[in-house]
Amino acid sequence: MKHLVTFSLLNALLSSAALCLAQHEVPVVPAHDGMIRVLLLDGQSAGAYHNWKIATQVIKAELEETGLFEVTVMTAPASDGDFSIFKPNLSHYQVIVLNYDGPAWPEELRGDFEKYVSGGGGLVVVHASDNAFPDWPAFNLMTGIGGWRNRTETAGPMWYFNDGKLVSDPTPGRAGSHGARLPFQVVTRKADHPIMRGLPTAWMHASDELYATLRGPGKNMTVLATAHSDPKNKGTDHDEPMLMVLSFGNGRVFHTTLGHDAAAMSCVGFMTIFQRGVEWAATGKVTQRVPANFPTANAVSFRVDIAAIDSAYLNGASSPVIVPPSEAGTVRQPMHAATAPKP
Ligand code: ZN
Repeated sequence: MKHLVTFSLLNALLSSAALCLAQHEVPVVPAHDGMIRVLLLDGQSAGAYHNWKIATQVIKAELEETGLFEVTVMTAPASDGDFSIFKPNLSHYQVIVLNYDGPAWPEELRGDFEKYVSGGGGLVVVHASDNAFPDWPAFNLMTGIGGWRNRTETAGPMWYFNDGKLVSDPTPGRAGSHGARLPFQVVTRKADHPIMRGLPTAWMHASDELYATLRGPGKNMTVLATAHSDPKNKGTDHDEPMLMVLSFGNGRVFHTTLGHDAAAMSCVGFMTIFQRGVEWAATGKVTQRVPANFPTANAVSFRVDIAAIDSAYLNGASSPVIVPPSEAGTVRQPMHAATAPKP
């Protein structure tokens, strides 16, 4: 009898554990300490021009300094790698930050990822992560637009602002382009969105790639900010989408095309909006204040301590010109002669 009772008790315990697991399959469960659990997913980029290992360090540092996020870095195999032991428990996290640009994932992982986002999980897509997975329709619905990796008009139309409105352009051609890395002005298009509230209507972003001719389904997509793609710098003369929010099922997606390298991600404008975008994707709210050193319409604001995470920066690559201490927190960006044809 004693054995029977023990067995029943064990059975009950196992059932409640199973129930517990089932409940935890629903994402967006805040941690007990109030921290937002972030899964920072990296592991591949299309080429050495994107140093994903450095980008992960920068992203982690930027999120952790807010005191809001508990960041777990998980490195997925490259697309041709062994996924048999890569089984992330996505439902443990409120938001996934994607720093991964590969061509494909196994079907099971794609399914888990889709279920996670459509079930209410947050997703943040940074820069070339929108180049990933051209043949995965659900991923392209999550990002709205993407480029490179042989995307053409079959991926969808181009999307940009014309006369203050978002338009789609079905003109055939390749997807994805940018000119030389220069500072450029970012213009707010949706000032009342929680991510954008309190930001200036225009601000100067540090040297970065200004993505243009991105294509995709553009469904359930709201463009928060654009930048003018200058024909004098191989641009389209269009106001190209830079920051977007999307919905995929019950999930919230924040997509920034900004952030080619540590120097670009050291822009206080990039950082602030990225930190706010991750909070919004996780919770639907933004509690963070806009910092006093946010860039203005004509002046870049730059965090040298963040840029220094990249030894290439310390060795003189992409180095901004530091201005006197009286203007601390602000640096002037030199013009870069080199163009970067890759994404
Ligand atoms: Zn890039």
